[in-house]
Amino acid sequence: MKIAVLPGDGIGTEIIAQALKVLEALGKDGLKLEMEQAPVGGAAYDAAGDPLPAATLKLAREADAILFGAVGGWQYDQLPRAKRPEQAILGLRKELGLFANLRPAKVFPELVEASTLRAEVVAGMDILILRELTGDIYFGQPRGLRRLENGEREGFDTMRYSESEIRRIAHAGFRAAMKRAKKLCSVDKCNVLETSQLWREVVTEVAREYPEVALSHMYVDNAAMQLLRDPKQFDVMVTGNMFGDILSDEASMLTGSIGMLPSASLDANSKGLYEPIHGSAPDIAGKNLANPLATILSAAMMLRYSFNQDQAAARIEAAVSRVLARGLRTADIHRPGTQKVGTAQMGDAVVAAL
Ligand code: NAD
Repeated sequence: MKIAVLPGDGIGTEIIAQALKVLEALGKDGLKLEMEQAPVGGAAYDAAGDPLPAATLKLAREADAILFGAVGGWQYDQLPRAKRPEQAILGLRKELGLFANLRPAKVFPELVEASTLRAEVVAGMDILILRELTGDIYFGQPRGLRRLENGEREGFDTMRYSESEIRRIAHAGFRAAMKRAKKLCSVDKCNVLETSQLWREVVTEVAREYPEVALSHMYVDNAAMQLLRDPKQFDVMVTGNMFGDILSDEASMLTGSIGMLPSASLDANSKGLYEPIHGSAPDIAGKNLANPLATILSAAMMLRYSFNQDQAAARIEAAVSRVLARGLRTADIHRPGTQKVGTAQMGDAVVAAL
């Protein structure tokens, strides 16, 4: 199991260091992991004049999975777009064909109070949102701005999905559901959109290959409402790029804590890039303040989805739960009556809890 480790910028190095401690601890228990680090983002621009140097891309290509910290920083904001740190993620997604974005939104019992919704609505919530990442209206052609004959300006984009694009994300959705509670909700807008009509047909066809999974369909406007009304009804949700962009942010915020949420972007063979959903947090970088749990939980996702090591993944997740139950909190999730710890202490506590 070969892992390319790309810490990146800001808090990236601090949080990745904690995830590595956890993986190394599992390594001592017999998990065979080979890890190699490379610079990415602003750090790579500083070192090599390119946010995604050829050597880093080569390492990522040759690895079975990529563990990614975060990229970005104010000192890079004036660079031309192609040199900006954030281009590294877009480049990796494109070069590696990472088309399925997996975002769990899980509420840990100890953090129920951090949600903006009432405790009884979110307690026990555990949703996985799968968002298609490389198609849809964000990439569809033609697109542009033009001037109409009457002199008015018009902007236009094209929503389009091919059958094969829908089929592969549907398979990813069903595979993910098979690892969980075997419930898949496909979200579309097929009462209005032709693209969604095809989406629903193809997802329904793919469902025949997964008889154990209960498939349902929901319109996106209803899904946005149901996520707030009764999020616990969902197990896995699968949807297109734009709907998923919006719904995954909505769902993640129900948990109330950006420092807790992992993510994965997978290709057709379950090779993946794993990263916390938050950015490089330059405001707290280098201060031992960052919450490393999103990154540690990203490492757990990596074990589950790229390496089929469900047991090792569950061990990490249980260790995180235990540390929270003991009352340890980084500053972002700290409440009166809990014990405030730094980034490194939190990492050590998870290792101890393993
Ligand atoms: P951000 O997610 O970095 O930070 C938003 C707020 O959340 C900040 O107050 C930060 O301190 C806090 N925060 C984030 N992660 C935390 C953690 N683990 N523990 C505790 N607090 C945490 O978003 P931003 O400030 O909008 O962006 C900062 C930089 O990150 C920008 O350059 C942006 O482009 C980049 N960015 C990168 C990624 C990525 O690498 N995938 C994603 C989003 C933003």
